[in-house]
Amino acid sequence: MLQALRLVQQDLDTVGLERIRLSFAVAGGSDEYPIVNVQWRGTWTSDSIDLDATDLAGVTADVAAQMAQGLIELEGIYMPTCPDHNNWASAGVSIGGSAVWACNKQGVTPHVLAAVGELDLIRTPRHRIAPLWRNLAELGPP
Ligand SMILES: [Zn+2]
Repeated sequence: MLQALRLVQQDLDTVGLERIRLSFAVAGGSDEYPIVNVQWRGTWTSDSIDLDATDLAGVTADVAAQMAQGLIELEGIYMPTCPDHNNWASAGVSIGGSAVWACNKQGVTPHVLAAVGELDLIRTPRHRIAPLWRNLAELGPP
């Protein structure tokens, strides 16, 4: 869980959202089966993390997805966005078993932006200027 939070925090820092500091909250459950949520600014995301996903990739993708969903609900921020398609990219586990950000824009072959924690790697010269997060008004059609 802590390693997953670190990876997702790296991506927040990369895109310029370092003001959001992730931590986690135990929001309920029992000692044996705690309900754990991603939190920042004293507010936590609406869905809890599946800690039964014992592999790091599964937990990381879950943390990244809850963080991204929480950003929309709490901050109105869509992150990360695909620099090629201006489309919100969602977190998931790739066929190869890694936690990744993927662009699933309609009419475009789904493609991986970067592994979660490695968004800085897509800051190529061509993409350096494109912001990696948007508010709803700046987002392209799905
Ligand atoms: Zn794309």
